[in-house]
Amino acid sequence: MSEADFQFLCSVVDKEKEFLNSVSQDIWKTPELAFEEFHAHDVLTDALTNLGFEVEKHYKLPTAFKAEYLSKAGSAPVIAIILEYDALPGIGHACGHNLIAEAGLAASLAIKEAMDADPKLEGKLLVLGTPAEERSGGKIDLLEAGAFQGVDAAMMVHPSKYTSTFPPVLSRLSINVDFKGKEAHAAAFPWEGRNALDAAVATYQNIALLRQQMKPSNKVHTIITKGGVVPNVIPAESSLQIAVRSLTKRELKDLTARITECVKSGAAAAGCTASIECDEKNCYESLITNKVMGNIYHKYALRLGRYIAKSGI
Ligand SMILES: [Zn+2]
Repeated sequence: MSEADFQFLCSVVDKEKEFLNSVSQDIWKTPELAFEEFHAHDVLTDALTNLGFEVEKHYKLPTAFKAEYLSKAGSAPVIAIILEYDALPGIGHACGHNLIAEAGLAASLAIKEAMDADPKLEGKLLVLGTPAEERSGGKIDLLEAGAFQGVDAAMMVHPSKYTSTFPPVLSRLSINVDFKGKEAHAAAFPWEGRNALDAAVATYQNIALLRQQMKPSNKVHTIITKGGVVPNVIPAESSLQIAVRSLTKRELKDLTARITECVKSGAAAAGCTASIECDEKNCYESLITNKVMGNIYHKYALRLGRYIAKSGI
């Protein structure tokens, strides 16, 4: 890219910075959970329509969309810019997906202006609004529905404490565990009960013991989502949510097998049963960043004064 092209792209984004920030603030102030992002969907599709894109609302999923801009010179390659906009329960946009939407909108606008300025530029710009990153893998649904068919390259940025060109985005699997025991009065007849909360706590501790033997790139996080009703009744039911992350899907499988043993032994120690449900359908694959695109991003991020952190875990 020439210096003049670079300055042109920057000036397009700078000119619209207040508008772009207002879109981001609007989404930030109206946090919506996975698959419920109707406000963000409308804000972004209205913005893209006003900017001159051909917009298809509710594309394949109720809160997904696509917007296209076609070069007069030819429709290949197809370059996709991805916008996310879902929030988290209780803590709103703590993951900053409103900024993914803002950055994607800014990039889309700048590319469109570049296509207008140079009629010889060939290609199709595809802006994809992809819901539900935080839960259930909205992009997996879109991928299976064919939304990425014919796309030559796709890109997005995710906010973080530091800038990284090749961020280590790990494979991720969600596991839900339900323990079943037996209720009993906790003071009068505790020996008749089987404490499902004990099974959950033992499992939690087993996983903590396992951590010492895990590679640093493997991660496990666990919360207890159900642990009894009142303290004077031995809990007959408890639930755990476990998130497992690894560098590769193969390692994820091995780690999941060890986690499963932690669950079974926790249940056995408390005399309970465990039902283990691995959410294979929404299992995330680790991200392999395209080297050429990553290096170009690196070059221009430096040019804009960003400090690029060394990639690693
Ligand atoms: Zn995120």
